[in-house]
Amino acid sequence: MSRVYNFSAGPAVLPLEVLQEAQADLVNYKGSGMSVMEMSHRGKEYDALHTEAAANMKELLGLNDDYAVLFLQGGASLQFAMIPMNFLGQGQTADYVNAGSWGAAAVKQARIIGNVNIATDCQKDIPTRMPDASEMKWTANAAYSHITTNETIAGTQLKDIPDTGSPLIGDMSSDILSCPRDYTKFAMIYAGAQKNLGPSGVACVAIRKDFAEKGNIALPTMLRYTTHIEENSLYNTPPCFSIYMLCLTTRWVKKMGVENLFKQNREKAQKIYDAIDASSFYRGTAKKEFRSDMNITFRLPTEELEALFIKQASEAGMKQLKGHRSVGGIRASIYNAFPVAGVDALVAFMKDFEKRNG
Ligand code: PMP
Repeated sequence: MSRVYNFSAGPAVLPLEVLQEAQADLVNYKGSGMSVMEMSHRGKEYDALHTEAAANMKELLGLNDDYAVLFLQGGASLQFAMIPMNFLGQGQTADYVNAGSWGAAAVKQARIIGNVNIATDCQKDIPTRMPDASEMKWTANAAYSHITTNETIAGTQLKDIPDTGSPLIGDMSSDILSCPRDYTKFAMIYAGAQKNLGPSGVACVAIRKDFAEKGNIALPTMLRYTTHIEENSLYNTPPCFSIYMLCLTTRWVKKMGVENLFKQNREKAQKIYDAIDASSFYRGTAKKEFRSDMNITFRLPTEELEALFIKQASEAGMKQLKGHRSVGGIRASIYNAFPVAGVDALVAFMKDFEKRNG
C-alpha cells in the first residue's frame, strides 16, 4: 500500500526517510542485536541517542548551556500543570494570553494552583485571531508570562513574540522548529513531540537553568524541573523509542535547515490560502494576518458539504482533514514533514470539488 497524504494535526506525518531508517534498524539497532525498545536506558547505545537528541534540539533552537533540554512524559498537558506548580507561588500572579483552546487549557491548570491574570482574551473571537501586542496587559513583577505560539485548533499563529517584562514561557507544540525564532527570549519553551519533532510519548522542554532553580522545592521529585535537569531526563525510565525517533527527526531538520523548511512551509500554506481566497465557496476561519502556516482551517457553505468533502478527499488519498471535534469544519495540518505534492493535490481537489458542488 502506498503512503497517503496525511493531514493529521498530531500525531502527524513524519519524514519518510526517518521512518525507513527506523524500520531498517527496528529489530537489530546498529548491530546491537536488539531494538531501541528493548535496550537499557543506561546503556551506551541509548545514551548516544539521548545525548544527540538533546544536542540537536539545543543547536536547532540556538540555545547555549544556560539552557537545559529535557525529555518528559505526560505530553504538553502535564506542562500546563508543572509550570504553575513550579513557578506560581502564593501571592504571585502569572500572566496568560488566552487566544485559543490550548491557551485556555493552560489557564485552567494554572488557576488550580494560583493567581492568573489574563493578559488578553480573544479565545472566542470569530474570525479566530491572535492578539496584537498593544492589547496585551502585563502584570508588573509577574512570576512568568505564558503564550501559545500556534493555536492548533483555531489555525492561528503568533507572528511576533511579545516583550512581557517577566520570564516568558511558550507552548510551541504545533510550530516548534517550523520557522526561525529567537528562542533566547524565552525562559522556557515546551512542545509535545507529535507534530514537528517525532511521535507522541515525549514532550520536549528547553528551560533556562537559573529560572528552573527558582522553582518550588516542595514538590514531588518527578514534578520538579531541577530533578530532570540534574538527572539529564534519566531520573526514571524515559520514553526511549520516542526520543530515538525525535533524534532521527531532528537530524532530518538539521539536514533540511530550519530556514529552508520555513520558506517551504510558507509556500505550502500560501497555496492553500490562495485557493481559499480565490473562491467564495471556501471560507477561511482565521483572520488573515494571524493565519497559521501549520494548521489551515476553513469552512464550506454547509456541514453536509464538509462531510462530503472529507469523505471524497479521503477516497482520493487525502486523510484526516476533519476539523477538531470542538469546532468542526476542515483542518489541513501541514507540518515540516508534510510534502509539497500533498498540498498541490489538496488544492487541485478543492478546485474540482467546488466545480462539482459550488
Ligand atoms: N498545546 C498545543 C498547542 C497543542 O496543539 C496540543 C495538542 N494538540 C497540546 C498543547 C496538548 O498536547 P499533548 O496532547 O501532548 O498533551
